[in-house]
Amino acid sequence: MKQINTTLGRIDIDRLGKVDIHDHIILDGSKNETIPEDFHHIDVDLISREVAAWKAAGGGAIVDSSPIGAGRNIELLNETSVHSQVPFIVTSGFHKLSYYEKDHWLNSASETEIAEILFAECEEGVLLNDSRPHQSKRSTTKANMLKIGVDAEGISPLGSKLLNAVAKTGNLLGIPLMIHTEPGVPFDTLVDTLESIKFDPNRVIICHMGKSLDLELHRALAGRGYYLEFDEMVRPSPSLPKLASTIRSLFDEGFGGAVLFAGDLARRGYWSCYGGSPGLPFLITSLDEFLLDLGISQEILDKIWIENPQTLFSN
Ligand SMILES: [Zn+2]
Repeated sequence: MKQINTTLGRIDIDRLGKVDIHDHIILDGSKNETIPEDFHHIDVDLISREVAAWKAAGGGAIVDSSPIGAGRNIELLNETSVHSQVPFIVTSGFHKLSYYEKDHWLNSASETEIAEILFAECEEGVLLNDSRPHQSKRSTTKANMLKIGVDAEGISPLGSKLLNAVAKTGNLLGIPLMIHTEPGVPFDTLVDTLESIKFDPNRVIICHMGKSLDLELHRALAGRGYYLEFDEMVRPSPSLPKLASTIRSLFDEGFGGAVLFAGDLARRGYWSCYGGSPGLPFLITSLDEFLLDLGISQEILDKIWIENPQTLFSN
């Protein structure tokens, strides 16, 4: 059985259970002024209790999707994981470029240098201080997810350097890549670029598909082998019936193996422990009930939450 690296050590992929494929458990804005204040959440005790409640409701593992320089704090993540006894899959790589100041090392480092930094985060351990990659000590936790961000402006020369470095690491180690997208992203160019660098689509998650709610786009991406991540169920728009009908169509058309669900609770206001809503346990409790009412079967939910993440990590 293939294993993956988590904050609780190596775990057999068939023991992950229900996987929230894109979330932000800890978001530490102390070193990055571009992260809005209402995104900061670092209270380990509060957050651990909510993550433990998610586990008690039936949750299994969570991908923490904050990469290098965008609010990741590996020490607080490790602590939260030990307190809640939930394994987190940690992310290396980068968020969209607007999160990085002009003097961040990603601007000046070469593609090879960046690939070496990412490789070491996956093989040796995540950097405790990723703003100084060559001086920093490492956590014993290793990354098992890579990330890049693409916005409506597409892939700039800098973005292309990062994507190449991420692809080199992912291809060498067989680690999945999640891609932050937004409405207006030139998806055709993105896919052509991924194909030109020979990144296996079966290991790529295209994120925030509910924001680009377009069945034709979803069909095209899933048809080429990409995973589609939906996390808009906790947001007011699009409506849950609209999302559910898209998910049902994807399953009806044979693309059910591409669908992944997530919370993406980046804002503090989504966390119950900070007085917000709907809270992390919602994903396991009320959401499944709402979706069952909207005609999504239990079999489909199990495939999305349990089977599809297993297949992704075994590819
Ligand atoms: Zn996110």
